[in-house]
Amino acid sequence: MKKLRIAGIVNDSIVDGPGLRYTIFTQGCPHHCEGCHNPQTHPFKGGKKIRQKKICDEIQKNPLLYGVTFSGGDPMSQARELLPIAKFVKEKGLELACYTGYVFEQLLGDSVPYARELLNYIDILIDGKFVLSQKSLNLKYKGSKNQRTIDVQSS
Ligand code: SF4
Repeated sequence: MKKLRIAGIVNDSIVDGPGLRYTIFTQGCPHHCEGCHNPQTHPFKGGKKIRQKKICDEIQKNPLLYGVTFSGGDPMSQARELLPIAKFVKEKGLELACYTGYVFEQLLGDSVPYARELLNYIDILIDGKFVLSQKSLNLKYKGSKNQRTIDVQSS
């Protein structure tokens, strides 16, 4: 299994979903949305590589976590590398949220490798590119109005 390439980790986030969360910012994003807050996460060769086991161990060590969030970058660009972490998170009974610049319907097709497999473990998907003209500061956990919060397992 290839290591995961990340831009960073916040292990006590309260802004990326409900409750205390372990948030992984993956490195690499193909979308280049105008006004993106994290342009340093775009290059696929940037950031640093980390073993999935190290992340799982850190999650294991924090009994206060309510959930885990995959953010980025675009996590779906490393869906395969995220699979073992997603499995672990669900085995632990934690909630799993994921941001992506793709829309849900694209991920259900075959164009993004391993995205559909990863969706099997995701509870909440926040989908769609960040659209500067639809930016709003009043949206819970989202940046722009076009983005949706999808309950994946009932959709
Ligand atoms: S999908 Fe997210 S990380 Fe990628 S360019 Fe858009 S806002 Fe930035």
